[in-house]
Amino acid sequence: MNIHEYQSKDLLREYGVNVPRGYVAFTVEEAVENAKKLGSDVTVVKAQIHAGGRGKAGGVKIAKSLEEVEQYAKELLGKTLVTHQTGPEGKEVKRLLIEEGSNIDKEYYIGLVLDRKTSRVVLMGSAEGGMEIEEVAKESPEKIFTEVIDPLVGLTGFQARRMAFNLNFPNELVNKVAKLLQNLYKVFVEKDCMIAEINPLVTTKEGEVVALDAKINFDENALYRHPEILELRDFDEEDPNEIEASKHGLSYIKLDGNIGCMVNGAGLAMATMDIIKYHGGNPANFLDVGGDATAEKVAEAFKIILSDENVKGIFVNVFGGIMKCDNIAAGIIEATKQLGLNIPLVVRLEGTNVDIGKKMLEESGLNIVAADSMADGAQKIVDLVNQ
Ligand code: ADP
Ligand code: MG
Repeated sequence: MNIHEYQSKDLLREYGVNVPRGYVAFTVEEAVENAKKLGSDVTVVKAQIHAGGRGKAGGVKIAKSLEEVEQYAKELLGKTLVTHQTGPEGKEVKRLLIEEGSNIDKEYYIGLVLDRKTSRVVLMGSAEGGMEIEEVAKESPEKIFTEVIDPLVGLTGFQARRMAFNLNFPNELVNKVAKLLQNLYKVFVEKDCMIAEINPLVTTKEGEVVALDAKINFDENALYRHPEILELRDFDEEDPNEIEASKHGLSYIKLDGNIGCMVNGAGLAMATMDIIKYHGGNPANFLDVGGDATAEKVAEAFKIILSDENVKGIFVNVFGGIMKCDNIAAGIIEATKQLGLNIPLVVRLEGTNVDIGKKMLEESGLNIVAADSMADGAQKIVDLVNQ
């Protein structure tokens, strides 16, 4: 789960990480109020969306007066910002962070991520911070330094200082940087993060070290331990279908293809997407209805698939073990009764109560194409969608 920059900064502040003073604003009036409260010579107006690359896309504005704050706030609120991370449809700006401007000397990159290869949290850093870090990673990976962190001892002072030295922080700031990195690691572990990224971490002309941007992503499986983090969830930033799905305990992820998939079990769902691709089609979603879904749950899942207007055909691929095939059939029939069905539907059912399930579908009067195997089903739905 992602949160906004201002929320990440509030969290960092709590853990003693130096961030600029700033307040969130939902309206132009609030933006101006906040700027007055800050009273700084330079005020930065920052669009709050769950995506990076805002600077380059015009979502970060430097204001030198209250009039400019007002002007930028008007310009940004309600605007659809398209950055290299939002996709072409962009994201609407509904919140702004009004913060004090920093007198930047140099920009650095710092990130903590979970590395699956080493099963460790890894600290990454580069002296080439700011808005071009993706290029640095691609063109000159040797400019990125890493420290693999032992979970038992945590990020040691030695490692934190070595990172600071590697990035060529001025000597007199090394201890400040090291302390900041250790505090950041504390946030990461205590809040069960997946990513904590500061880009840029800056040194200022006044000799301070400040986190000017902050992106934190949390492990959703651990959110039950952090109700205070769950409260920060912004539903405006998420796909409405994915929210609806999570309410029904379904694992649904929208993709950009046109073949809707309804499958039980994450492994089979992945394999189904692969086989659709193999036959030249494009899945519209990942969907795992779970191992023991009820007919109601299947109906909800089917409705969610149908509500995606890109969907031109549906492939139901169910291997019923614990899951009973008649539940699947009942769910499909219920959902199509409510919503109608005017796109092709290919069904491959196998397992417990398969005969009952097939019979129910046959007698439902729905225009269903039966498939004998996964490959057969994938081929059939791809052909039907491409007709
Ligand atoms: P994004 O990563 O989405 O582009 P950032 O928060 O990193 O957004 O801002 C982009 C750039 O804007 C930063 O690299 C920095 O140069 C500048 N910037 C951001 N916040 C401030 C600030 N408080 N004071 C001065 N400059 C800032
Ligand atoms: Mg940034």
